[in-house]
Amino acid sequence: MTNYKELIANMTLEEKASLMSGENFWNTKQIDRLRIPSIMLTDGPHGLRKQGGKADHLGLNKSIPATCFPTAATLANSWDLELIQEVGSYLGKEAASEQVSVLLGPGLNIKRNPLCGRNFEYFSEDPYLTGKLAANMVKGIQSHGIAACPKHYAVNSQEHMRMTIDEVVDERALREIYLEGFRYAVEEGKPKTIMTSYNKVNGEYANENHHLMQDILYGEWDFQGVAVTDWGGSNDRVEGLKAGNQLEMPSTGGITDKEIVEAVQTGELQEEVLDEAVERMLQLIFETTNALQDTEKVDYEEHHQKAIEAARKSIVLLKNDKATLPLKKEQKVAIIGDFAENPRYQGAGSSLINPTKLDNALDALQATDLAIIGYEQGFKRFGGKSESLKKRALKLAQEAEVVLLFLGLDEGSEAEGIDRADMKLRDNQLELVKELANVHDHIVVVLSGGSAIEMPFAEDVQAIVHGYLGGQGGATAIRDVLLGDYNPSGKLAETYALKYEDIPSAPYYPGLEATSEHRESIYIGYRYFDTKKVPVLFPFGHGLSYTEFAYSDLRVSEQSATFTIRNIGEVAGEEVAQLYIKPTNASVFRANKELKGFIKVHLEPGESKEVKIELDDHAFSYYNSFHHCWSIETGSYEIQVGSSIDDIRLSAVVEVQGDDTEHHYNKEALKPYYQADVHHIGDEAFHQLLGWTPPNPLWDRKAKLGYNDTIAQGKYKKGFGKLLYIVVLLAKKFLFFIRKPLLANNVMFVMNMPFRQIPRFSQGKISEKMVDRVLKLINFW
Ligand code: BGC
Repeated sequence: MTNYKELIANMTLEEKASLMSGENFWNTKQIDRLRIPSIMLTDGPHGLRKQGGKADHLGLNKSIPATCFPTAATLANSWDLELIQEVGSYLGKEAASEQVSVLLGPGLNIKRNPLCGRNFEYFSEDPYLTGKLAANMVKGIQSHGIAACPKHYAVNSQEHMRMTIDEVVDERALREIYLEGFRYAVEEGKPKTIMTSYNKVNGEYANENHHLMQDILYGEWDFQGVAVTDWGGSNDRVEGLKAGNQLEMPSTGGITDKEIVEAVQTGELQEEVLDEAVERMLQLIFETTNALQDTEKVDYEEHHQKAIEAARKSIVLLKNDKATLPLKKEQKVAIIGDFAENPRYQGAGSSLINPTKLDNALDALQATDLAIIGYEQGFKRFGGKSESLKKRALKLAQEAEVVLLFLGLDEGSEAEGIDRADMKLRDNQLELVKELANVHDHIVVVLSGGSAIEMPFAEDVQAIVHGYLGGQGGATAIRDVLLGDYNPSGKLAETYALKYEDIPSAPYYPGLEATSEHRESIYIGYRYFDTKKVPVLFPFGHGLSYTEFAYSDLRVSEQSATFTIRNIGEVAGEEVAQLYIKPTNASVFRANKELKGFIKVHLEPGESKEVKIELDDHAFSYYNSFHHCWSIETGSYEIQVGSSIDDIRLSAVVEVQGDDTEHHYNKEALKPYYQADVHHIGDEAFHQLLGWTPPNPLWDRKAKLGYNDTIAQGKYKKGFGKLLYIVVLLAKKFLFFIRKPLLANNVMFVMNMPFRQIPRFSQGKISEKMVDRVLKLINFW
């Protein structure tokens, strides 16, 4: 680390404070006198979103064209560390070529529940997979000398009320589920920055949370970079700084810089704390600015090809009865479904990319020598009945030997800032597939969407291909898989439940008002389904291939597992072998098994390879919340290797000598946890697990509204507060009605924004005094 002490000694208090927040929406402040340049931070996780003109963090104003790679939910299905690092490197190259110092990604919150509106931007329900992928993406981005910014640290599990919600989670789930991915990303990826989340974690805003920031991030993980608030995510600026949050974004028009100066002058903040923060900022500024001196030119066509490759390797073949796929050249094919013509290829909100080009499946398929007999839209994209569209689709289908049916989640149904209402496709799509299945028995459903859905049609169709959100080249990648030009190798990074009610967090999600209680604790995704033996539609790690793989010769030790995979089919392919560890005599409650390793191998027909998976020091451990440490119980552990969590091919037992740190779990009081009976966690068991009593999950309806409250709370007010709430609500409803779901979603940002952000976001144009007056008016009744 360069020594910036001398430079800091030359800075005035005001200059130091000025580096602690943005100059505008995307840049930090420069100090000409000391030749400290400004740097640019910009979204986003799967493409560069650099805005030339008007700035916003909601995806409202266009950004310069950039390559739109598949989103994280898609890339995760590749389970391909090398690929993810490469994609990271391509992203980093584009950012560097545009003089961007910090790329705001990857996003790596754990998918606690399939309804989270931002799941499309996150990798997985599993922290090991998440952490490994995120660390590799960080390495790729930073290979160009700029900074990656893993986000949102931490427990940003829901979009509803995301700026104020308090995520109440027990220490064990916090460590094993919600922080573990960040630990890998920080320890292995060594990001130069990290973004804190908007929400509170166990009562404190994430960026002010000393436990998260000081004890864990800086203490245990030795984070060397700069912590940035999410945009508008600062509450008490001085508390945030004390906790270790150096940079507040975006600009607050200097309001919070003044607060820092005053805090130093009054002795509330030690100047050494500010100096350390300044030193970290200077390190980031100079290091990344130097890297930007000499950048490479981007070949956007090459990047487009990489985007196609990334999408190809991430497509999941979920079902393929009677070898329906790949398509045969002579078959008469009907293409049905709006998504064939208008691809759904990315999410909405701050990650919205303006792609350099955009492939669509209809054109891509029509350019092949398939016998395509026609295309029909089939349904209205944003819902609503259309008998004529349906009729035309049914007629076309009857003339075809194979129907390619493109279904999916539209742009309005999953977006930043709002959670999904259910796990369903729109009714008009479900109706169409049902009626098509009555008249046809060669239907291939091609899905797009960034999060898990229910598939009531799964039994009625012959094949299902999931392309997730494949980025600008996703449609070409789908064509390659349908034709067999690429043998699918993706595996689900999340479980597909049969129905929403089966999801472990379903009874508790989302937290509606003040808190969100994680009563299901560690039982997220497969950790629940596999332990409780609840049947699922498609299990974690599932994905078919046009070939088959045989596993043999497993040898295990505490450090590694070695085994052989052989391609026993006719075509070349790639297999993702997964390693799970199952404790057989645990005295603490644990998931039946957990993912602790994986490897992706390419095999020609008949070829076999011996592969080795190394186990790390968290392979056998659980987090002991009584002694605040990771601990291993002595005993037998089964090492299982397989093609999905439900398709274990080999297993062997190792005896592990642990540390057996004492724990005080009361088996009787925690019975539902020992039985993974997480849909019925009463107060007693949950409070026992937490070790403290959580606050009331509902708002205090009688309390006066203050700076940390929102317009949404006007719901329980009379007079002006209620009026404000109704106006915003009606605006949202109206926009939905006129089929402007994206704008409607953005209205919810206003609804859920705490009053404290209004002066800061408006850079002082709406003053604190004005907000005080509004609050006074609201509280008058
Ligand atoms: C999002 C972040 C994003 C930031 C800047 C926020 O609303 O939560 O993920 O990086 O805006 O656009």
